[in-house]
Amino acid sequence: MMTKTIIIGSGFAGAVVADQLVNAGIQVTLLERGPWRDTVPVRSMGITDRTPFPRGRQMWGATFRSLRHRWLGKKGLLLNPRGLLEMFIDKHLSTVCSSSVGGGSHIYSGVFRYPQVDHFWDGFCEDISDASMKRHYENVLRKFDAVEPAADLKIPHTAAERFGPGDPVQGPSKTPPTWLGFLFPEEVGSPRKIMTAEGIERWELDYDDRDGHGFLGAPNGAKTTVDFLYLAPLLNKGLELRDLCEATRIVENPVGNEARYRVDYFDHKTGETVSLYSDNVILAAGTMNTLSLLLRSRDIDGTLQGMPQLGKRLGGNGDFFAFWDYNEVGRNLSTGLPFHGGFQLKDENFPLVLGGGGWPAADKYPFPRFIKERVKRGAFTSSMGPDAMDGTVGIRDGKLHIDFNPDNSPIYAQTAATFRRMSEVTGKKIFHPKSPITVHALGGACMDRDIERGVVGSNGEVYGHQGLFIADGSVFPRMPGGPPTLTIAAWAERLGMRLAERLRGTP
Ligand SMILES: Cc1cc2nc3c(=O)[nH]c(=O)nc-3n(C[C@H](O)[C@H](O)[C@H](O)COP(=O)(O)OP(=O)(O)OC[C@H]3O[C@@H](n4cnc5c(N)ncnc54)[C@H](O)[C@@H]3O)c2cc1C
Repeated sequence: MMTKTIIIGSGFAGAVVADQLVNAGIQVTLLERGPWRDTVPVRSMGITDRTPFPRGRQMWGATFRSLRHRWLGKKGLLLNPRGLLEMFIDKHLSTVCSSSVGGGSHIYSGVFRYPQVDHFWDGFCEDISDASMKRHYENVLRKFDAVEPAADLKIPHTAAERFGPGDPVQGPSKTPPTWLGFLFPEEVGSPRKIMTAEGIERWELDYDDRDGHGFLGAPNGAKTTVDFLYLAPLLNKGLELRDLCEATRIVENPVGNEARYRVDYFDHKTGETVSLYSDNVILAAGTMNTLSLLLRSRDIDGTLQGMPQLGKRLGGNGDFFAFWDYNEVGRNLSTGLPFHGGFQLKDENFPLVLGGGGWPAADKYPFPRFIKERVKRGAFTSSMGPDAMDGTVGIRDGKLHIDFNPDNSPIYAQTAATFRRMSEVTGKKIFHPKSPITVHALGGACMDRDIERGVVGSNGEVYGHQGLFIADGSVFPRMPGGPPTLTIAAWAERLGMRLAERLRGTP
């Protein structure tokens, strides 16, 4: 019996795989634990059950979906199934991800880069290399219509605009190829509402938009998100997308059914637990949730076996989030793009490039005016670079634990030292937590040549589990040391293309 292929998660990875499969005529059910977001594009799609981004008085309850910490019980603390963000908090590494139809595309800063290390894909499996991945990167950039930053875009708050020749800070001495996932206006300052070829409405980017384009979502659709870019056209081609449906367990060889897998999920709308059966299941829940689902299924429920390397080689991509009390009178950093580009100390002893952006949609916070004004002048800042990738994620006493020692990775101490020096020379304090917070947890189910070294092979299929695939950044064999999403989407495209060929029996 031909079963529908199941995809878990509708972020970059899930949407790109769905695109490959559905366009190849394969029937797909996509489970997404988050809701559709209330944006101009999603309205124009005719979706009625939409959830606004956290704004105004709803902000307190709408920002966080869930918190995961070993003290918060076996499943963590679910605060609001329609909330936007999720945090996995542990002693030496904490991570942030999100929950929506469209996943992290609603909260990303829109920056696409190749891996910042050489030979990212080379040397692990014979049939995958940097060279063979090139066309997938290019396909993704083309699909996003991603734009290279240039002077005529008049992007505000860049280092060139903020720092002069006499300042101790400058723009980065070298900038790697960068693309931005926004719809830039034909005429800066006069944004128009447009309709895409697929009949989706969205606004061109307005740098002065007080409702934000950053990590609290872009309601006007100027940020390119995968819900309307990839998923909307698939809904007309038979994609079955179940929002607010959270996969809780994967069962191999389920009793009483010929399918290879059963996926149990909790429907947050009805409060019911439902089972789906399929020969092919693709995990695209983002690194931490993919690892959590596999580990829970194997180590708590006992419904999956094997995967000796599962949970090993986790990294934080050298990412270290901090708050910069920038406070330059007259400069509202909450406007413009979410990412204002890189900047660097002129001091050769501190060569790290920091990046950052303003606090998005600050005008919509439920704070007194004077606090809002101060928030608008603040910024977040961070750096990235390859870390030792020597963390582990596992289950102990029925709870998820992240074990990670930032002291093994010089990048974290270098970043902390750069933060300190930057504070000293600019007189504007940077506050950072003792242990890193990353928005780029990667690895833990790494691609490698055999089951002794990795969890998946070059097709993304889990060793020893035919038909079980991983499409997200948990498969990364190295830390990219830069924004990972382009690489995740490229991998997902390759996986989807190959699986479609297999399922259709065509090369
Ligand atoms: C503030 C911020 C800014 C960022 N900026 C950038 C940037 O500029 N450039 C860049 O490259 N990267 C950026 N990132 C990282 C980027 O968001 C992630 O790399 C990317 O979203 C990962 O894609 P993914 O498909 O693997 O996972 P996600 O996009 O996280 O998608 C996973 C989806 O799976 C769903 N899900 C999880 N568990 C389940 C379950 N059990 N059942 C059903 N559904 C489930 C989630 O709700 C989510 O929608 C940023 C991240 C943050 C937090």
